[in-house]
Amino acid sequence: MTLHRILKGKLVLAALLGLTTFDGQVLAQSAAASMLEKGAFIQGGLEAIQAVTPKGELPGQKIPYYLRSGEGERYLVGGMVVNFIARGSDTGDLYEWTVITGGKGAALPSHSHSTTHEAILVLDGEVELWLAGKHHRMIKGDFASIPPATAHAFRMLSHHTQLMSISNGNRLGAMYRTLGKSYTGYVQPSDHVPALPQADLKKAEQVADVQFDDKPLAGQTPQRVTNAVLPKSVMPYVLAVGEGDRYTIGDQLFGILSDNATTNGKLLIVSTEGPAGPMIGKHYHLKHTETFFCIDGQMSMWANQSLLDVNPGDFVSVPAGTIHAFQLKSPYTRFMGMLTPGVFEDFFRSAQPYTQHVYPQVPTGGPNFEKMAELDVVLLERPGPPPAQAPKKD
Ligand code: FE
Repeated sequence: MTLHRILKGKLVLAALLGLTTFDGQVLAQSAAASMLEKGAFIQGGLEAIQAVTPKGELPGQKIPYYLRSGEGERYLVGGMVVNFIARGSDTGDLYEWTVITGGKGAALPSHSHSTTHEAILVLDGEVELWLAGKHHRMIKGDFASIPPATAHAFRMLSHHTQLMSISNGNRLGAMYRTLGKSYTGYVQPSDHVPALPQADLKKAEQVADVQFDDKPLAGQTPQRVTNAVLPKSVMPYVLAVGEGDRYTIGDQLFGILSDNATTNGKLLIVSTEGPAGPMIGKHYHLKHTETFFCIDGQMSMWANQSLLDVNPGDFVSVPAGTIHAFQLKSPYTRFMGMLTPGVFEDFFRSAQPYTQHVYPQVPTGGPNFEKMAELDVVLLERPGPPPAQAPKKD
């Protein structure tokens, strides 16, 4: 470990924390300048990076973009609105992400995926989930990890139920397109929940990574999700809201819901919560795509040349090379991040382990400094207000 690496690590940490560091301005400027040089290999140079695509449109290519809650590409599937907020074509085939809204009784029959890893998080209402022979009752914030070749099904129990489904690769989305019809609404049309025709299930099997198995949605008393332990290997599991491997940096609480060990490096999913605070330092990643889905509160995000207001249900995708930063703006803000591939796991793992379930009200310490310098992050500036809000000089 060289002195240069250690100092660089402290600088990165300070910027991510939004803290002033002992290094002082001189070191900060020289280190940032050298990192800007590192970033110059980005095609067109840093100054040529485009802004986030206009809200409401999926880009159809792997570039940074931003969607307001409800926006995306929507299909009506058996009485549920399946809204793509990321298709394979928007992510370089790294992942697909849908937000599924429906009413009481809406269901997806038992099925499995041969190669796709799927993760589910409940956003509103109650959901019954059948997963690998177990029958769960899930509420907002509960999480399920569904490895390939795992039988699963769900049924909605509330009049307004919403969940998100995140999957690696590009082979799941065609299932919803085949089972459903293009839809311009944002909520399901009525209380009537039509069954999905068997012929459509067969068609979906032809075009997507899905196999339906005709297992009945049996069992009268699903068990409320209580598990608090993240497994150490790939297996089906559920996690109760607020659980998972928890760490803290400053006043923010990170909860790892799935990681490299549980998804074969495909879906690193981390919940971040905290109070209002400063914008973290602008940075970018060389190897991994990072995503932000706001669950509670309010955030700001900087993404290339755009400063975005991010509210519950809003989504921002920042592929590798996108200059970004975020700021929590409400007394309680929570967002879900999915990072793929999972090379940034050690950022969270090197933070301070935390046993509590609320964010620290007295800021805690930071991660392992030496580890920080080894991670997939290039820092571009010291923390401070975003440019659009910077105070004018007299
Ligand atoms: Fe980042």
